Amino acid sequence: MSSTARSVGVRGFFAPKGALSHWHPNYEYRPGQLEMAQAVEKSLKEKRHLLVEAGTGTGKTLAYLVPAILSGRRVVVSTGTKNLQEQLFFKDVPFLQQHFATPLKVCYMKGRANYLCRQKLYDAEKAPVLEGLEEVADYQVIREWEKTTETGDRAEIRTLPEASTAWSKLDARRERCTGQRCPQFERCFLTKMHQKAHESDIIIVNHHLFFADLSVKEDDFGGILPEYTAVVFDEAHELEDVAGTYFGVNVGNYQILDYCRDVSALARSKNFGSAEMDRVLIGLEDASELFFRLFGEGEGRTGFSRQAAFLEQHREQYEDVLHGLELVWTNLEIVRSAPEEVIPLLRRARELYEKLRFWMDGSNQDFVYWIERRGRGCYLQATPIDVSSLLAEKLFEKIDTVILTSATLAVAGSFDYVRTRLGVSHARTAQVASLFEYHKQAVLYVPQHLPDPRSPAFFRAACDEIARLLRLTQGRAFVLFTSYQQMRMVHDRLSLELEFPALLQGTGPRHALLEEFRRTPHAVLFATSSFWQGVDVPGDQLSCVIIDKLPFAVPSDPVVEARVRMVRESGGNPFYDYQLPQAAITLKQGFGRLIRSRSDRGVLALLDNRVTKQRYGQVFFDSLPDYRFTTDMKEVERFLDV
Ligand code: SF4
Repeated sequence: MSSTARSVGVRGFFAPKGALSHWHPNYEYRPGQLEMAQAVEKSLKEKRHLLVEAGTGTGKTLAYLVPAILSGRRVVVSTGTKNLQEQLFFKDVPFLQQHFATPLKVCYMKGRANYLCRQKLYDAEKAPVLEGLEEVADYQVIREWEKTTETGDRAEIRTLPEASTAWSKLDARRERCTGQRCPQFERCFLTKMHQKAHESDIIIVNHHLFFADLSVKEDDFGGILPEYTAVVFDEAHELEDVAGTYFGVNVGNYQILDYCRDVSALARSKNFGSAEMDRVLIGLEDASELFFRLFGEGEGRTGFSRQAAFLEQHREQYEDVLHGLELVWTNLEIVRSAPEEVIPLLRRARELYEKLRFWMDGSNQDFVYWIERRGRGCYLQATPIDVSSLLAEKLFEKIDTVILTSATLAVAGSFDYVRTRLGVSHARTAQVASLFEYHKQAVLYVPQHLPDPRSPAFFRAACDEIARLLRLTQGRAFVLFTSYQQMRMVHDRLSLELEFPALLQGTGPRHALLEEFRRTPHAVLFATSSFWQGVDVPGDQLSCVIIDKLPFAVPSDPVVEARVRMVRESGGNPFYDYQLPQAAITLKQGFGRLIRSRSDRGVLALLDNRVTKQRYGQVFFDSLPDYRFTTDMKEVERFLDV
């Protein structure tokens, strides 16, 4: 059979009684999968961009992976998460490999912080960089593993805690790497990873790595990715946000503090420390603390356009930080017989300096400037208002085949929104059907008696309705909110009243909460945005998804506000062209958590009845799968057979 894998072509793979049906005991012919695979094949052959929406259950990973392998081109596959990256590499590729006569040339690459820096590991043996017993214990594990690992990817050490501080001192991140001057360069895991990528036809990355590459495109490894001519983006609905982050600027108090600590640690370990160096570093730390404190306290994201007025009042404190950075790098420049590790520290000081100046200049009209405060952290951010022109220039005009896919790309059957937001002017489109029978598997309930979600009476009424629904479904639910505050308030009120275990986002790492949810019978998870997507709980354990409000982006958020203004100024209608389609895609994502397999059944509830009362509500219905719809709780009871 193996010799036929390349010869059968895409149709022979996915067709009824095709190759896949022979190879896979549970394989079921899916017309949508074949349709998508053929669209991808055609795009790769004809060098055209493609937008393809493929609902859950289509089998879309194989539908792009197989034509990518058969194309004979070097294709970068970019996923939304590291988990999906691993699933492709460790599950889908080995499955396909069994049926190819020749080895498939596939590799996966993650961000640099996932890999071990050998040089730092060896240095740590000689210099006292580890603190506490835990770090020493983690170090021992890493040290042993380093002797045998082929990849240096930390995911191989299952026992290493996610937040291991020892790892963060030993990873291969760019700001502490000396590149080709490093004695370990030839043996470096990054060098090996790059060599592997150069020999590969399919390179599996995630969006963060892809955009880091697109926005930087240079380091001693000669760019992160080798040359390629085609890209497939899975979970492509996330691209605007990720691109915005990587084409933007971010400088914060912790970055400066970390920088000072790294300089100090290196000076200690390489014996070039001096009283003067200590004085300069303490000066920079103090200046930075004073400066960032000027931006006030509190939590959250706020716009900032008062740079000129701010400077009039606080120029001295701002210049103290710049001067502090300059002093550190001039002191580093004069270190006699400086170790190679000084070079990335010099580069980092200059980058921090430039970023701070860019942000404080505040005059680039293409960016929105804002501040984010989290705990004691203060981050000065600048985000491009419109990523479409950047993406058009750097991606869609440079690479001849870009394939964007997701379960949520189209709004009411149209791809106009994603085209405009991402700057894809010429692309074919396809919307392929899922195998699920949504009208039999799920009921969408929109209660009509609840007040408008903007009214003060909504909270109590929503809590009562959530409690009724959870009793019907015996817990086993996600209750998803558009705001943290609302999530906490509803959780606080209901967790005492309900007889089911109530889990709350923020009380543990995301994956641990999900694990607990999967393990705990009748659990209810109260969560916000990070659980609206990329979460998979097939089976009865998740039988209900309740959403409190239509997920319009917060209009006062600085980035949303700037984008709304831009749409208006360019003659569009911000609500219909931006806010409504964005909310429709988010709602589709949120409800998409419920039905993950053909045997899943359950209830979807939207407590915001503007969807039935306002004219724009139809856009949401036209974007969602054809769930059975009701406004009557009795119908929900009948559906659940209770
Ligand atoms: S090249 Fe950079 S990442 Fe690799 S071992 Fe050397 S310092 Fe570490």
